[in-house]
Amino acid sequence: MNRPMYDLILKGGTVVDPAQQIHKVLDVAIANGKIGRLDSGLDPSSAWQVIDVTGQIVTPGLVDLHTHVYWGGTPLGMNADRVGPATGVTTFVDAGSAGVGNFRGFKEHVIDRSRVRIVAFLHISHLGLLGAIFDPTNLAVVGESFDLRYLLVGPAVMMGRAYPKVIRGIKVRTSLEASGDRGVVPLHLALQAAEELGVPVMVHIGPPPPTRREVLSLLRPGDILTHVFRGDPNGPLDRHGRVLPEMVDARQRGVLMDLGHGGSSFSWNVARQMLDQGFAPDIISSDAHHGLDIKVGGDPGLPPRTLPGAISKMLNLGMSLDEVIRASTITPARAIGLEQEIGSLREGAVADVAVFELEEGEFEFEDMYSGRTTGRLRLTPHLTLVRGEILSG
Ligand SMILES: [Zn+2]
Repeated sequence: MNRPMYDLILKGGTVVDPAQQIHKVLDVAIANGKIGRLDSGLDPSSAWQVIDVTGQIVTPGLVDLHTHVYWGGTPLGMNADRVGPATGVTTFVDAGSAGVGNFRGFKEHVIDRSRVRIVAFLHISHLGLLGAIFDPTNLAVVGESFDLRYLLVGPAVMMGRAYPKVIRGIKVRTSLEASGDRGVVPLHLALQAAEELGVPVMVHIGPPPPTRREVLSLLRPGDILTHVFRGDPNGPLDRHGRVLPEMVDARQRGVLMDLGHGGSSFSWNVARQMLDQGFAPDIISSDAHHGLDIKVGGDPGLPPRTLPGAISKMLNLGMSLDEVIRASTITPARAIGLEQEIGSLREGAVADVAVFELEEGEFEFEDMYSGRTTGRLRLTPHLTLVRGEILSG
């Protein structure tokens, strides 16, 4: 008998790969950690292993553009190797957990040892998010950009040049709890570093200062605004419920609008009004993280919010399956310049794959601004593969 050509075939699933405009039943064959072939009716004897995924959705591994995975390095940090297999996320983009002062530890002790892929937006604050104390009962105890002496452009550029494969952008948080009364000064410094490195900036907005308008006016094509669907203060709608013109202008310029769900940055009501006016997010990300309530010792486990949860909300608000998968695979892959490797199941791409069930029923969802709400659809992860290797099943 001949040696099988493939290591694995995922058989009979519905492949949804917006990068290739594919949405149909196909088999996915994997060899040597790459996508070997995408075709219907592949011969099972051509692979060492065949998994029947009939009735399930097969997508490129999810790329979560806003996460916090410096486990042990900041209180927010999740263990990406625990979260990835349970959620279909194969690439975690860490949004500023580390700055120059603690990036090397992140790289050596977390990124290099993880089975899932991790890349980072380096925080423009030397302290990274270790410099922020998040206290839900007392807004803004300390922010990592309160003191501008921590915001060092030169060292950030040096670090970015030392690790170009891993540092894919610069992160900055501009809001009362992160930057106090410094307004857009931290953003100017982040842009300066990003400009020198030729990478995008991801900017967080929250309660002003600065205002959304001030922030948006500075962003360049390819820069990312995260927490786009937060409620007031500093939401994306005017007092008549219309999308702010500066949001429309920024999008036309090529600024990327990222969901960044998080613990308090997604309003169901705002999202509905935005979608009604044709303003869907370009990217759906989780901003998944732990909080200060994390138990001491042991693995932190799964965070309360995950990317499939954020995607499910957008499905229930009317985005199509193709739209939500595009916004969580190829668009974020492109935002970090990795679209040749990840974000699609085209032949020759890295075999990062996720398998989901699209459940129909009556499901409860949390809304941070108004309690609970229900929806009809839920995307439930079943299988996660990174470089062709099964991490969960
Ligand atoms: Zn975040």
